[in-house]
Amino acid sequence: MCAAPVEITRSNEPDGLVTEEERETRVNLAALYRLTAHYGMDDKTSTHISARVPGTDDQFLLNPQGRLFHQMKASDLIKINMAGEILSDTPHTVIRAGYVIHSAVLGARPDVDCVIHTHTTAGMAVSALKCGLLPVNQKSMKYVASMAYHDYEGFATDLDERERLVADLGTENWLILRNHGLLVCGPSMWTAFSWMHSLESACRVQVAAMNTGSELTLPSQEVIDHAADQANRPRDHLTPPAEWQSHLDMLDAQDPSFRD
Ligand SMILES: [Zn+2]
Repeated sequence: MCAAPVEITRSNEPDGLVTEEERETRVNLAALYRLTAHYGMDDKTSTHISARVPGTDDQFLLNPQGRLFHQMKASDLIKINMAGEILSDTPHTVIRAGYVIHSAVLGARPDVDCVIHTHTTAGMAVSALKCGLLPVNQKSMKYVASMAYHDYEGFATDLDERERLVADLGTENWLILRNHGLLVCGPSMWTAFSWMHSLESACRVQVAAMNTGSELTLPSQEVIDHAADQANRPRDHLTPPAEWQSHLDMLDAQDPSFRD
């Protein structure tokens, strides 16, 4: 199980070039960080959200170590490749566990362009339960049957954990990191955010319901399967939905510096 911790290196020729497509991704990703904080899903600077650099299969954007989510700007985000080499011309670095987790998922899943990892109280509480996520509420139905689980191995700074993490994730889009937190990946930033927001709600409801100490009522397996089919109908995940624009409008009204 023990392995040498990963080392983050720096490119000898930092890439100052930002294409229009990368610039747009940076703005949306900075917005995603701020929305994660807005909805109470941040953990100071300890977790991470990534987006693949458009037009590449081996580069992604990650938060700089020490930056609070609600302060994130497009220009803060660090471009790094799958080998752990920082490509951006920046004095800052990334959290090693962030590099390990996000390079694992983005490297193994070409269908994924965004990965969100959180340490919310409700997510961590459900990650500590042997029963995992339960179908206690409509919010849970989308996730219960296809939830992936990854056992805790210590802080995710060893490169060889990547193989086990992606093996446990498989082709699913939501993963509970046992005794740790939540992970959602998706084909776009707005889709991954929407899924993480509703998974977080599902965890909050489960913790609240279990906290009462009363016996839980659960739907039949037939109803759970039916609701999961309804919630997981194919949708266009690549076009930003109206809700995403509403979120950008809200952030612009609050503080448009996420675009900087
Ligand atoms: Zn974590």
